[in-house]
Amino acid sequence: MNANEFRKQAHEMVDWIADYLDGGVEKLPVRAQVKPNEIYNQLAPHAPEQGEPMANIFEDFKNIVMPGITHWQHPNFHAYFPANSSYPSLLAEMLMSTLAAQCMLWETSPAATEMETRVMEWIRDLIGLPSFFEGSIQNSASSSTLLAILSAREKFSNFEINQQGIQSKHRFRVYASEHIHSSIEKAVRIAGIGSVNYRPIKTNDAFSMDPKALEKAISEDLQNGFTPLCVVAGLGTTSSTGIDPIDAIGAICKQYQIWFHVDAAYAGTAMLLPEMQHMIKGVDQADSFVFNPHKWMFTNFDCSVYYVKDRNALLKSFSILPEYLKTETGDSVINYKDWGIQLGRRFRALKLWFVIRHFGAEGLRVKIRLHLQLTQNLKKQMEAHPDFELLAPVDFNLICFRFNPKNKTEEELDILNEKILHALNHSGEIYITHTKLNGKYTLRMVIGQTNVAQRHVDNAWRLIQEEAKQQ
Ligand SMILES: *Cc1c(COP(=O)(O)O)cnc(C)c1O
Repeated sequence: MNANEFRKQAHEMVDWIADYLDGGVEKLPVRAQVKPNEIYNQLAPHAPEQGEPMANIFEDFKNIVMPGITHWQHPNFHAYFPANSSYPSLLAEMLMSTLAAQCMLWETSPAATEMETRVMEWIRDLIGLPSFFEGSIQNSASSSTLLAILSAREKFSNFEINQQGIQSKHRFRVYASEHIHSSIEKAVRIAGIGSVNYRPIKTNDAFSMDPKALEKAISEDLQNGFTPLCVVAGLGTTSSTGIDPIDAIGAICKQYQIWFHVDAAYAGTAMLLPEMQHMIKGVDQADSFVFNPHKWMFTNFDCSVYYVKDRNALLKSFSILPEYLKTETGDSVINYKDWGIQLGRRFRALKLWFVIRHFGAEGLRVKIRLHLQLTQNLKKQMEAHPDFELLAPVDFNLICFRFNPKNKTEEELDILNEKILHALNHSGEIYITHTKLNGKYTLRMVIGQTNVAQRHVDNAWRLIQEEAKQQ
């Protein structure tokens, strides 16, 4: 392909992209409706020996690939948590792909490093984190939490485990709400601490960690010769967006000198609203904090911002400098390779810079407030309906609910709601997912896709009621 052919093809694809995003996506089923292996069997069994024209490849993309895509940018996507995109983010992704720069050292793209430092400061200030926090962009909250647990492990072993390997004399323990994301336990496993040393802590009726239960677990462990290493508090847990009491947990961590990590992967976006910042009261006690703009802040995956209080613990845990990576500027500049696991890094700051500048902080707040309002509107309608039941508080833009007509046993309700879920998702009209709360099969509906509007939510609510009636 030469530059002229590229130009022609790219223009055609940009037209296709604009049509897709501007209404096209709404005509497609939200969740892919294909069967397992349906796509695999349509893909050539062997790699082609001869190159093919781009036009053929693009045709196959439309005909073979597209039916196997679940449309995360569909306004009727209410599943999991969103993974939003937006026009400015997408444009930045195009430029990032064009430059295809590795941003591991300052020298390998000074603009990428310095813009990363700057946008990390912007976001820190926008979400109300104290100014001593600094950080870098990671690929995911899972990686960020792993960094937190590894930094805690190194700091509390006096940076010995990196040198000596895991020693059995360290009997570390890690604590988190029983409703926290599975990435915490995964990090505990990868860090060599072991799942047996991961202690899920009981929550109250609002699915918020009980600080008394936490303190009890810590004292028990201390009595039994364990070293409490890290507590993870969730701000917006994954099942139900539960909110752990950051202030109280922070005080316990301070008292017992435990690393305190806050996982605000999803709900961090809501902290852009001054009226929500009371939820992170006490965050000054945290050692680390993670939030994913790649979920609800209109920035393409991957983009997870990870903040730390003590950069030395991070750098001493992850810095390693072979001869071939030494530069003239050395330590006088930031080399983000030392701030995480990856050596090679994409220029992710660019999409944050595009998104924040294009929306403006106020533009972001307007959209987030709209999502919260749409959620409250639907919550009221569900509350008013005699046969629907809310199963968790609605603090953000997730509603946990079930259809609960009279005279059914718990077991029948589980089966009934599972049926409703599958029927809705098979219809292709909307996509929602489920969880279990207090053992009850719970439907989860998130209202946070970039372009979701009242009409989409009204339509979803109509479909849910119709489907429920038919069961
Ligand atoms: C989504 C989520 C994660 C995991 O995020 P990734 O970036 O996909 O690793 C962790 N914690 C919470 C609370 C989440 O919502």
